Amino acid sequence: MRILIVEDDALLGDGLRAGLKQAGFTADWVRDGVSARLALETERFAAVVLDLGLPKLAGLDLLRQLRVAQDPVPVLILTARDAVADRIAGLDAGADDYLVKPCDLGELAARLRALIRRSAGRAAPAIEIGPLAVDPVAHAVTY
Ligand code: CA
Repeated sequence: MRILIVEDDALLGDGLRAGLKQAGFTADWVRDGVSARLALETERFAAVVLDLGLPKLAGLDLLRQLRVAQDPVPVLILTARDAVADRIAGLDAGADDYLVKPCDLGELAARLRALIRRSAGRAAPAIEIGPLAVDPVAHAVTY
C-alpha cells in the first residue's frame, strides 16, 4: 500500500517514511503543497499523511482543492496544531482523520490501515478471497 507523506520538516519526514516502511507501507515523501498536488495528479496513493503548515501551498488549501476535484483519497492530517477549532476545520475541509504531533508511529500505521480498508468498503481487517486470507496487520497470508 502506497502512502504519500507531505511534510516539510526533514527529520520528521524521514522518520515517518522509515516508520511507515517498517509497518509494511511503501511511502513517498514530498516537502511542499505544490509537489503534493502534482504527485496526487500523476500517481495513485492508498492514503495521504498531510501536514498543515507547508511551503507554497498550505495543507488545508491542498485538501480543499482535492475535494473540489472529487479526489476521494483518504487523508490523515498530522500536525502540531492541537486546538479543537483546527481539528474541526481539518475534518470539515475533507480530512478523514486527524492526529497531533508528536504521534506514535504504531497508532499512525493502524489509523492508515483503518482508513484504507474503509475506503475499499471493508470493515474487517483481513482480506479473504476464496480460501486465501491476507492479514495486513500481521503481514500474514494463509491458504
Ligand atoms: Ca510543517
